[in-house]
Amino acid sequence: MEKIVDDIKEFIEKRNWRQFHTPDCLAKSISIEAGELLECFQWNNDYDKEHVLEEVADVLIYGLQMCIALDVNPEEIIRSKMEKNAKKYPVEKAKGNSTKYSDFK
Ligand SMILES: [Mg+2]
Repeated sequence: MEKIVDDIKEFIEKRNWRQFHTPDCLAKSISIEAGELLECFQWNNDYDKEHVLEEVADVLIYGLQMCIALDVNPEEIIRSKMEKNAKKYPVEKAKGNSTKYSDFK
């Protein structure tokens, strides 16, 4: 993960784009790219996988750019959130169903 973050940093620095990468602008950009991803499925499920993957990459790149802007390690925050998710969704309650944790009995 470090290598890809370094490559993204280099891409940004070469273009002097860091000035535009405020957390609010990056949050908007993540949402815009997520919308573009959703658009791939707008009218039917006959999606173009190559296009879908490009939009997934856009979302991930902006997510990593947010980590750069906030000076946090993406692997650490992903692991931290996965630990929280594992507690919210224990296997014995969550296995094989899509029930939201707040609705577990
Ligand atoms: Mg896009």
